[in-house]
Amino acid sequence: MVLSASLRRCLRILSWLPVFIVTAVILWSYYAYVMHLCLFTLTSTAEKVAYLLIFNVCFVMFSWAYWRSIHTRPSSPSAEFQLSVSECQGYEAWGSGDRQSHVLQEVSQKLPVHMRSASGDIRFCHRCQLIKPDRCHHCSVCQTCVLKMDHHCPWLNNCVGFSNYKFFLLFLLFSLMYCLFIAATLAPSFITVWVGTLTGELVDSSAKLHSLFLMLVSVLFSVTLSCLLAFHCWLLTTNKTTLEWLSAPFFWDGQDGAAFDVGVRRNVMQVFGEKRRLWPFPVFSSQGDGHAFPIRRRMVSHSPLAARGDVNLGEESIVETKFTPVLTLALKLDPRLPRVINLSEIQ
Ligand SMILES: [Zn+2]
Ligand SMILES: [Zn+2]
Repeated sequence: MVLSASLRRCLRILSWLPVFIVTAVILWSYYAYVMHLCLFTLTSTAEKVAYLLIFNVCFVMFSWAYWRSIHTRPSSPSAEFQLSVSECQGYEAWGSGDRQSHVLQEVSQKLPVHMRSASGDIRFCHRCQLIKPDRCHHCSVCQTCVLKMDHHCPWLNNCVGFSNYKFFLLFLLFSLMYCLFIAATLAPSFITVWVGTLTGELVDSSAKLHSLFLMLVSVLFSVTLSCLLAFHCWLLTTNKTTLEWLSAPFFWDGQDGAAFDVGVRRNVMQVFGEKRRLWPFPVFSSQGDGHAFPIRRRMVSHSPLAARGDVNLGEESIVETKFTPVLTLALKLDPRLPRVINLSEIQ
């Protein structure tokens, strides 16, 4: 028991190692760029001022977004999704099988949940003892359920989810700008230093080393960050999380990889919010509270919350779900299934 507690403490400290490495690289890059390129290598004052100004803006925005991505706690489901003591006892009493599913079905009546497990059951987290809201997943590293979980990032030592996805995207964007700016402005002096070395001219060896590593790191990170940013821009515009890209979410009528895709503009607004002036800054401006999201299909939830309008299902985004005779029959046979209305029924 003592060993496992110490082991856990060691693992917790070790989990910060990637963050320390990234922070050390950022601080070193700042020192190397400002001291060795701007102050010692550049001769023109105008150039020095312009480079330092743009570089520091990139640095501040990048560090701000990185800080917010690391230190924003992942949002967990509200108490509404937690099973009460009596509900827990009822659930545990049935052991397993249909009776347990029935308990969860009963409890979920008052909740805006549409996603199901692969077996078609209400999604339940046994560790947190709660019904998982749509797009919520349990993170085994953070040991909690995370709303709209994207992935657990070791470089942030934090989960990327509803509360910090905007910060994570800005972190990718500003870090890419930071690396590209370093690579572009360093290139002329890098060539000068290395041409000087080849022609046998005396060049300061520490400046040579700093320019070599700075160029190497900025180019490598630029390539990696461009790919990662392009991938997350695609996820943003199609309203998918990394987990949903790996495995499409399940609903009562099967898997649907594009269930939350309500159009590029609305998808972007869900993450960045309505106030465009806040988009470039790592301050929280995402829409909603992370518990419910507009769904593409024409669905009327069995939840009283949704029925009385407490949950925004995004009326304009709702589209018709094709009804097959088999599904219609299934609805008639099993009234527990969420009610999905065919447009022809209401016209
Ligand atoms: Zn959980
Ligand atoms: Zn996590």
